[in-house]
Amino acid sequence: MAKVSVGLRGWRFDEEEIFTDDEELKPLDEIPEEPRERLVRLVSLVEEPCDVCYLEHGEDEVHRCNQAEIVYGEPKGEVLLCPEHEPELIYWFREEGGSEHAGSREFGDRFHEWVAAGNGAPEGYGSVEHVDEDPDGLPDLPDQQDIQERVEQDFDGDRIDILELAGKDGDEEEKLSEDDFEDVDLSTDYPSNR
Ligand SMILES: [Zn+2]
Repeated sequence: MAKVSVGLRGWRFDEEEIFTDDEELKPLDEIPEEPRERLVRLVSLVEEPCDVCYLEHGEDEVHRCNQAEIVYGEPKGEVLLCPEHEPELIYWFREEGGSEHAGSREFGDRFHEWVAAGNGAPEGYGSVEHVDEDPDGLPDLPDQQDIQERVEQDFDGDRIDILELAGKDGDEEEKLSEDDFEDVDLSTDYPSNR
């Protein structure tokens, strides 16, 4: 099954799970729960700044941050990165125990703490696994309006607020059990762990 990234590089989707044969986005209720959650989450992430830039510059200088182009981790525990800062995440993941948090919503927090404590990848530490990818070739993410309309079309009766789905209200208290990740193949959504 072909894997594709949508909107941001990092999270991968099975093409057949989210697109019709005509390369149109499927109605949301035909998309399995896990990719649907990521897709909806992506809508709220595509315009966000890189986390490492943000930790450097802060809210007051958010205009100096690069826009994120890469996403790793679980929905609501993800890490957003610009290409310049991707090596920090890969270094942390491979060399500093970051891979232990794969599959957990703690993933993002643990990485942010590591960066905030002044850590970083050594000079010249580079990522090579994406050189053959063409970021401009990523399918565009359908805009929020489009997804909102689909949500309303596809679910009779109860209306679902896309912002709620995307977690804008924040539900950090929500706990996930180990079982939630049992059947998830994480290998495609994190850096390779060589
Ligand atoms: Zn950055």
